[in-house]
This record gives sequence, C-alpha cells and structure tokens, in this order.
Amino acid sequence: MSETTAGRPVPGHPALRRAVVDLSAVASNVERISRIVDGAQIMAVVKADGYGHGAVPVARTALEAGATWLGTADVGEALAVRAQIADAPILAWLHDADPRFDEAVERGIAIGASSALHLERAAAAASATRARPASVHLKVDTGLGRNGIPRREWESVFDRARELELEGRVSVDGLFSHLSNADPVEDGLQLDAFREAEGLAQAAGLEPQLRHIAATAAALRLPQTRLDLVRIGIGLYGLSPFDDESPRRLGLRPALRLESRLISVKRVKAGTGVSYGYTYRAEQPTTLGLVPLGYADGIPRHLSNTGSVEVGGRQRRIVGRIAMDQFVVDLGDHRASVGDLVTLFGDPATGAPSAFDWAQAASTINYEIVTRLGGRVVREYA
Ligand SMILES: *Cc1c(COP(=O)(O)O)cnc(C)c1O
Repeated sequence: MSETTAGRPVPGHPALRRAVVDLSAVASNVERISRIVDGAQIMAVVKADGYGHGAVPVARTALEAGATWLGTADVGEALAVRAQIADAPILAWLHDADPRFDEAVERGIAIGASSALHLERAAAAASATRARPASVHLKVDTGLGRNGIPRREWESVFDRARELELEGRVSVDGLFSHLSNADPVEDGLQLDAFREAEGLAQAAGLEPQLRHIAATAAALRLPQTRLDLVRIGIGLYGLSPFDDESPRRLGLRPALRLESRLISVKRVKAGTGVSYGYTYRAEQPTTLGLVPLGYADGIPRHLSNTGSVEVGGRQRRIVGRIAMDQFVVDLGDHRASVGDLVTLFGDPATGAPSAFDWAQAASTINYEIVTRLGGRVVREYA
C-alpha cells in the first residue's frame, strides 16, 4: 500500500524518498501504553497528519489496538479523518477566531471549547443542524498560558454550559486541560487547579464523564494525572517525549523510517570541496554518496556537517551544506554503489540514527523531525 503526494513514484520503481511506516509498531505502542496507564482510556492524537505518519492509517491501527478516542488540533483535520472513519469519537480543540461548527457537530466531532464563544458556537451549530446536542469538552487553562478558559471565567462558562445542557443544545461530555511538562511540581500545581475546576463544574451541575490532562509525558511518568483518559501523540509513534529516556527503555518502537537510495557515488581526491560554500573539504581521498532529499523534504539544514545517515550497516556523516533537494555523505573507503539503500533515520535497533539523534544534532525535538517531512516524501505502509 502506498500513499503518494508530489513524490509519486513511477510504477514498478521505488519512490525517490520514502517514509516507511510500520503500523505494527503503532499497535504495539498502543498496547504498551495501555498496560502502563492501567485502565485510563487512550485518545490517539493524530494531528498534523499523524505526526507525519498518516492520520487515517495510524488512527485505524490505534483503534484496533484499543484506543477509544481520536484527537486532532483543528476541525478540518477531524473532518478529514471522519470522512474515512465513520464511527470513532473524535475531539478537536484548536479553532479559528470566528469558528463555525455546523459540519463538525453534524458529523459527530466533539468540540474542545476554550472560551464562551466556542461554547456558544457549538450550541448554535446544534440548533442550526438540529443534529443532536453538540458534544463539548470544556478546556480550562490550569497554567499553560495558551488556550483554555481562563480561571476568572470558569464559573460563568460552567453556568452557561449547564443552561445550554438543560436546553438540550450541548452535552458537556468532558473537562480537560494541558500540562506544561515543566517539572513534577509545576505539573502538580496544574493538577490542583484542574481539581478545583472539577469541583466548580460539579457545583454548576455539570457531570463531565471524561476528565483528561495528560499527554504522553505525564501519562508515562505522573500516574496521578491519568484520570479517565490520556491523550497520546508522540508515544503512539514510538518516540520518547523525554531527553533522558529512550523509546526502547520505555518499551516503545519507532514506527517511521525515512529511506532513500544513493543516486550518485564518486571517488574524490583530498581537498575536494563539497556543496555550496565548500563548508567541507575531503581531508583524504574518499568516496562521496549523493542522497536525493534536502530541506524541502524536511531534512534540517542544521544537520550540514553534523548529522549522520546509515549506509551499508554503518552511520556516515553528512558533509557539506544540505541543499533544497539533496545532500552528500562521506562514505570513506566503503565500496558503495548507486542504488544502495540509505536509512536517514528510523529505529536505532537497526543501526540507523534515531529521530532523537537528528533532533539533538539540529537543536530541536523529535516531534519536529517527523512532523516536518515534506510533501515529496511518499508514505508507504509495512
Ligand atoms: C499534541 C497534543 C497532545 C499530544 O501530545 P504528545 O506529547 O505528543 O503526547 C495532547 N494534548 C494536546 C492538547 C495536544 O495539543
């Protein structure tokens, strides 16, 4: 099965740039996290096209493996998933300045409401479509300082939500928040604030069945944050949210490997300059291999002269500047040929660099490495 975009392969030929996604790893990660969170439901977060892995295939796999909810950032993403997956509960929590939820409510998308406006618009959508009460999860800001209902409005929004419930226009099915992951003490303070919100919601007559605050990091390390449901993104894809603990130690399997082939191999003399600006010159005679991915494909330009890829069972350094469409690796005296497989990153158990290795070399996080893969990279499912 292959899903192609701008990098559509010629029939019978492998694509020039491939993100090979192992869905059995996604299933195994869901099962692993289910065991860890012990009873909390799992929402599979598939925003940003499933962190670059493909939202729909990941969502299907996660549901089969035991996840009970899907989560996306915006309603457009949720509707795209709903078009392929008819019945799973989906929550979307990041909205336009002037949001219209008619289609979302009609199609059974739960609305994460971070303001009185979101709540009113959800109710309006329910009235306009006469579909049902709109399912709402109220999102409270417990200290992250991004979206979420601010503390001073909790009582008024909860009271209004109860009124709308009594009118049959909304159903407050969830209450949630998001942690800063600053440290266990700060996260504990956020959890305390969340408990206060729960009390106020109850006092207003609301009975949200799903209370949730933890994403992957807290779900794994802070048991008291698991509540009714955990929203799992990065862990689903087999990557660690922590700098100090690898996926392997967490029992997770990286699902994506970025793969290509050498498209040129040449022997060069000492002193040969490589790529724009000659930021690298061969110190001795060596073999250079050309890889047809560049920053347009999501290869961080910061990996120039620092990152590595795997060729012939060993990691080889990227030399010279990474260009828009290509970069060069120093193969030393390895007898490489045009067509040899290159694994840019993947599961380190196979000898490839990990998304974390790339993130370290580029001063970023593994989340950014996988989500920034460009439109020319063709996804294949194994
Ligand atoms: C992205 C996101 C998540 C998932 O976070 P991970 O760290 O990838 O598990 C959970 N909740 C919200 C609100 C998010 O935006």
